[in-house]
Amino acid sequence: MLQERHALPPGLPETDSRDLASVLGGPTLIHLPGGREPPLFVSVLLHGNESVGWNALRPLLADYRQRLSALRLPRSLSLFIGNVSAAASGVRRLPDQPDYNRIWPGCESPPTPEHTMMQQVVAIMRRRGIFASVDIHSNTGCNPHYGCVNLLDHRYLHLATLFSRTVVYFTRPRGVQSLAMSRLGPAVTLECGQEGERYGVDHARDYLDACLHLSALPQHPVACGDIDLFHTVAQVRIPEVVSFGFPPGQADILLNPELERFNFWELPPGTALGRVNAHSGIGLEVRDEQGRNVANRYLSTAQGELRLKLPIMPAMLTRDEAAIRQDCLCYLMERYDDQFPQRQ
Ligand SMILES: [Zn+2]
Repeated sequence: MLQERHALPPGLPETDSRDLASVLGGPTLIHLPGGREPPLFVSVLLHGNESVGWNALRPLLADYRQRLSALRLPRSLSLFIGNVSAAASGVRRLPDQPDYNRIWPGCESPPTPEHTMMQQVVAIMRRRGIFASVDIHSNTGCNPHYGCVNLLDHRYLHLATLFSRTVVYFTRPRGVQSLAMSRLGPAVTLECGQEGERYGVDHARDYLDACLHLSALPQHPVACGDIDLFHTVAQVRIPEVVSFGFPPGQADILLNPELERFNFWELPPGTALGRVNAHSGIGLEVRDEQGRNVANRYLSTAQGELRLKLPIMPAMLTRDEAAIRQDCLCYLMERYDDQFPQRQ
C-alpha cells in the first residue's frame, strides 16, 4: 500500500492536492537528499481536506528541482503524502477509511492495512533517523496558529515555538503522527488556521524552510516570555445518539452560535456552551487524558443551560457539524506554566 520513492516525481510541485492520487497512485514516502543528515520528516494530507501542508511544500519543491544541478536542499527531506484518495474528494477521510492521524503506532484502535502502512513509515524513518518531524494540519474553527508537542523536552518546545508562541502539550488522542514520531526525535504538529487562508500556507512554507536550514535544535530551555504553554486535559465529543445543532433549530443540544469565539480564551466558570433539553442531561462526553468520562467535573446544567463548572480554555471549537461528528466538538486546556519542565 505504501509507495517509497527516492526522487521527485515529474510535475509533482505543480500538482493540486486533488490530483495527487492520480499522479502518485496512493500514499507515498519520498526521500530527497540534502546537505545535512539526518532528514527532516514532514507529513501532509493525513486529512484529505487539509491541503495547507502540501501547498506550503510545493514552492519549496519547485525551487529544489530548479536548483538541483547546482544546489541541494540544505538538509535531506523525507516527505510523507498521506490520504491522497480522500484529498481527491476534498474530505478528511473516505467513509470506509480510518482517520490517518489516529492510526500511528501507539494507538488503541483495531489494526487495519492503514495501521500497517504507518508502522512501515515509522520503521523506515527509525532506520534513517530524523532531525525533526513536522505534521501539518488546518482546522475548521477560529483558532490561532499553534504547534502541538507530546513530550516536554526543550528541543521539542524550541521546534514548536519556531512556529508560534502558542504551544499545546497533549498525550491524547493516541495514534497521532507526532506522538509516534516523538519516540524518534523532536516532533511537532502544526495547526495553520483555517483551510483556504493564504497566511497559513505562507507561514508553514517559511517554517519548513527555516527547519531545513537549522543545523541543530537548542538544548537549553525556551525563555519563559517566549512561550504560552497549554496542556490538553480533556476531549469533548457528542455521542452519536445525541442530536445537536444551532438556534433556532430543534435538537437535544443547541450549541452557542458564538462558540468559535471561545477558542484560546480562558473562560470563567458559568460560561454557557449551549442549551440542553430536559431529557439529555449534560449530553456531551468529556474524556480526560486517561480516557475517563469526566463530564461532571467540567460541566453542569441548570435551567436547560449547559455551563462550565471550572475555568477552562477550549481549542478547536467549530460550527462545522461534519467536523464535530467525525472528530470532536473541542479540546479543553489548562495553562501549563506552573508545571513548566524543570530548568537545568
Ligand atoms: Zn488535521
